Amino acid sequence: MTLQTPHSGTAPTPAPACTLPIADHWYTATPVDDAITLIHEPHVHPFLQANTWHIRGSQRNLVVDAGLGVAPLRPAFPHLFTDEPILVVTHGHLDHMGGAHEFADCRAHKAENLRTPPPGTLASAALFDELGMTEPDDEDVPDLLISAIPHKHYDPNTYRLRPADVSQYLTDGDTIDLGNRRLTVLHLPGHTPGSIALYDPRAQTLFSGDIVYDDQLLDDIHGADQQDYIATMTRLRDLPVTVVHPGHGPSFDGTRLREIADAYITART
Ligand SMILES: [Zn+2]
Repeated sequence: MTLQTPHSGTAPTPAPACTLPIADHWYTATPVDDAITLIHEPHVHPFLQANTWHIRGSQRNLVVDAGLGVAPLRPAFPHLFTDEPILVVTHGHLDHMGGAHEFADCRAHKAENLRTPPPGTLASAALFDELGMTEPDDEDVPDLLISAIPHKHYDPNTYRLRPADVSQYLTDGDTIDLGNRRLTVLHLPGHTPGSIALYDPRAQTLFSGDIVYDDQLLDDIHGADQQDYIATMTRLRDLPVTVVHPGHGPSFDGTRLREIADAYITART
């Protein structure tokens, strides 16, 4: 597919009836263990299908990232969102901050622009343009990055990323206390300037956002910096980690983390 010019949105184009099926459920929730639940959006193309992690604590619950924002997140899981959780947005891309406006306690690094983000789109060509990237050449990416709609009145062409108010800026070394679990904020730029991960040193668990996942990493898009990414990977390689819960795709172990970090450093130096 070649890159197309994004539609301006000003022409009174009569919207063709949306032919996408209506999803029974927009989100799925999969328990990982007694405390951690993985939420994701099965009708979103893998390029944009991000992981949301819900971590139940004895005092507070924590949510890592908030999905694409196509459908309301919190009402989908009343049993999980029983009180006001802490939301940590790992970075300001649409597939991670789309639902952030639903959370009163929203925390992110100050280098991420959650208050005035770019408009966002579900159209692949316009999105690649917005992100400053070319279409991945090893994938057949459809024009529209969802394969169903959440309800019959939903028009994918009207998707816009909603701004979010950040109630607290996070910086490297900050801790987030859930009562029986304490997570440390790691500022790990490279994918974006303000990308953060959350690290549980006791469980040796890392919630990594898009800093590291087990697929092609994006280090040449707007805001990315390969020198920062090398420093980030060097830091991650030496971190005691047993499991990584990433922003995209399945979780993996510390051995795989070090393989990914080493491969990145080798490729970029
Ligand atoms: Zn991202």
